Amino acid sequence: MYVGRFAPTTSGPLHLGSLLAAVASYLDARSHDGQWLLRLDDIDEPRTRSNAEKIALTTLELHGLEWDGIIGRQTDHRDQYWDAIEELRKKDLVFYCTCSRKKLRNTSTYPGYCRTRRTAPREPASIRVRVQDEEIAFTDRIQGTVKGNLSHMEGDFIVMRKESIVAYPLAVIVDDDVTGVTDVVRGADLLENTLVQIFLIQTLDLTLPRYAHIPVLNQRDGIKLSKRDQAFAIDNRVPLLNLVSALHMLGMDPSEQYQDVHALLAWATEQWNIQNVPNEVAISDFMSI
Ligand code: GLU
Ligand code: ZN
Repeated sequence: MYVGRFAPTTSGPLHLGSLLAAVASYLDARSHDGQWLLRLDDIDEPRTRSNAEKIALTTLELHGLEWDGIIGRQTDHRDQYWDAIEELRKKDLVFYCTCSRKKLRNTSTYPGYCRTRRTAPREPASIRVRVQDEEIAFTDRIQGTVKGNLSHMEGDFIVMRKESIVAYPLAVIVDDDVTGVTDVVRGADLLENTLVQIFLIQTLDLTLPRYAHIPVLNQRDGIKLSKRDQAFAIDNRVPLLNLVSALHMLGMDPSEQYQDVHALLAWATEQWNIQNVPNEVAISDFMSI
């Protein structure tokens, strides 16, 4: 059984890039007769905007993207995050890090200063996972073979921030595991981070999902669209137009005139072939709508 999901962060309204991820994951799930779950990535409470959640749900509904079952939330998985950290601790893979941002300013790979600190200090500390010097590889359904060595990338990575907020790679693998997700379809900005996630999945003996990373949308200057770019927030008044644009960017050709989003999505589900999605990590020259 195929179980897919869309997992927007509730720090702002959905933008065109998020709609692309929503549509791609929806079509892939529906064309496999699978389930499509909705999870609100709301663990970073200081960054959560109270109305973002409502706007995201309205956007999905207006675009005909109907999810299955109840809405999931990261804030429901807090115990499971700590269970996972406890498992990592039992394997002697975690340590407490008190390095300041300033101390790490000039390096993109964690230099290992706190690697041997196994007990919690008095001051606030983040929890990091010790990585190995080994290559991790996976086959992405869109991007092909992806590989890298974590010790040459970000190095020992954070799983729990100083403020006791779980870090994304640990959160996402626990969330997907708890909800039985078999297929992850999301933006290629997370391609590298997927290697960190795979390391965690293998270490914790969880089941590896299949991955498909769709291109992210960049502004013309090459900067990724983000929640801060209010100008690119989805215009909920024109859902049909938004969907047509999204489908074009996913390599489809919705040339016929559809009356409503449901008919258009039904057509797209029928036509969906993930091989037609451009195997690029970014599209810079898209039309803003
Ligand atoms: N909330 C994450 C994001 O919006 C989810 C990423 C994922 O699909 O794993 O970037
Ligand atoms: Zn440190």
